[in-house]
Amino acid sequence: MVFFDADDTVWPTIPLFRKYMGECYDYLGGLREVQDRGGRELLKLRVTKINDQCFETMGVSPKRWEMVMDQVAGEFNLMPAVRNEACGILGQIYTTPVRLFDGVEETLNWLQDRSILTGVITHANYKWTIKKFEWSRLYKLVPWEWVHVVDENGHKTAVDWKRGIVDKFGLNPKQVASAGDSPRTDVRPSWEAGVRQAFLVDGGVGASGGWSLHQIEIDPRTKLIRRVADLIDYRG
Ligand SMILES: [Mg+2]
Repeated sequence: MVFFDADDTVWPTIPLFRKYMGECYDYLGGLREVQDRGGRELLKLRVTKINDQCFETMGVSPKRWEMVMDQVAGEFNLMPAVRNEACGILGQIYTTPVRLFDGVEETLNWLQDRSILTGVITHANYKWTIKKFEWSRLYKLVPWEWVHVVDENGHKTAVDWKRGIVDKFGLNPKQVASAGDSPRTDVRPSWEAGVRQAFLVDGGVGASGGWSLHQIEIDPRTKLIRRVADLIDYRG
């Protein structure tokens, strides 16, 4: 059985974050209040910093943006309507359809043809996860019974991986493999939960698109692949 992470492993979400965060900086950076207080680049630095702090305390919940923008509005003296508009721009991250990465469908079919079951252990907002399953039609490949959604307010730790693999699915971690793009929330915690076939999907651009918060040390026995489709006929 192979458990895949979802975001940026089977479908891209980092481009959505980059796009709408960029649009938010453009919008706010054009305002007098922001220009008077250091401009777009300072605003971007502050949003990044505050978002990182909120990620540590709130996990990946979309409600995080409300907290981030409250703080930014205070620092840059933004009117409530401006703050709400900024939240609206960021909200599009969660309403823009995603599609599976090239080769994911073929890979899951290839595994299933060899009687290797596939599941998903994702750390994301529940509602957003269901939408992404529908947009991408992943539900045709992975039945919902084989999906474990980790609490969005937490951090997808070894406890969460174990809760999925052992408690929910009743499997021995030594008999499953994991594949995900984050050293911090996929590779290391699945390894700590007992998985001994861990694949880091680094996209060829660095794991997790280079998000610094996700970069931590992982076991050297971790197998590196660029994309999920590299699992087909994997040697190594
Ligand atoms: Mg991911």
